Amino acid sequence: MSAPEISVVVPVYNEEASLHELHERVAKALDGESYELVLVDDGSADRSREILRELSAAHPEVVAVELSRNYGQHPAVLAGFEVSRGLHVVTLDADLQNPPEEIPRIVEELRAGHDIVGTVRERRQDPWLRKRVSGLVNRVTTASLGVGMTDYGCMLRGYSREIAEEVVELAERSAFIPALATTLAQNPVEIHVAHGEREEGHSKYSTLRLMRLGADLVTGFSLLPIQLVSITGMAIALLGVAFAGFLMVRRLIVGPEVEGVFTLFAILFAFIGVLMLAVGVVGEYVARIYAEVRRRPIYRIRRVVSSGRTDGDT
Ligand code: UDP
Ligand code: MG
Repeated sequence: MSAPEISVVVPVYNEEASLHELHERVAKALDGESYELVLVDDGSADRSREILRELSAAHPEVVAVELSRNYGQHPAVLAGFEVSRGLHVVTLDADLQNPPEEIPRIVEELRAGHDIVGTVRERRQDPWLRKRVSGLVNRVTTASLGVGMTDYGCMLRGYSREIAEEVVELAERSAFIPALATTLAQNPVEIHVAHGEREEGHSKYSTLRLMRLGADLVTGFSLLPIQLVSITGMAIALLGVAFAGFLMVRRLIVGPEVEGVFTLFAILFAFIGVLMLAVGVVGEYVARIYAEVRRRPIYRIRRVVSSGRTDGDT
């Protein structure tokens, strides 16, 4: 079987409840097209893996990729990129928050020659705080990448074969695929897509995990945070010098001051806070360097199951 035109890549982590519907809706949306559906099982603990095997046995267009353990959403997508063969690659989430019915619109843009199709979620269905945080992260990322994309978080996206391959090649341990791909794009475009509420299961992202993802995104592509730390440090030092000057003048005019001990504490605590933040930011970069230096694999594919692929390239 020759390579299909379209690859739909979906990371799957404990999504047993939505897999059948996902497959049906993708099949319907791409009816008549030459496509493959690459489902990457990211070490699920529920029945997802069996369901993927069943689907791939029953449908030649389904390719089930099994990772050796849970690596996370973005590594799972990378594994899917590696296994996929289509000229156009579309990613989406397994929980059906991204409607598969939007895939043809993304493919249309890819066929028109765009190498990246970004998406903006219309009427995004997520908790309020999460949307605010994600808005902030999007703006910082845009500022540090220098390329504007309104919404990096939406995984319903399209990539050309070249971009998908470059992303696999260049990905670091904590790569955030939409942002990394954007740095490689020559002719990107953004479209608006619908976004639904999660119907089955629950989000795999806890607040802590989201904070870590945000930190990855912000420190992964720029030195801006570390420069901000230096600038803040400098500003505080200047303020300190100015304050010392003021105290000296005051001592000459009003005499020595004895009160205000607790004000001093307050100021001290603020400084210590900034200091700890600074150490944290530096640590963020050191951790990234450490992870890169160790050179552990970002993901490991244990098995590729497909009834449609006959060339045995697993
Ligand atoms: N996912 C994954 N590995 C993980 C966490 C999530 O493959 O460790 C998949 C998950 O199955 C889903 C997608 O990534 O297809 C997005 O996850 P989720 O819906 O939990 O994230 P949210 O929509 O809350 O951002
Ligand atoms: Mg989701």
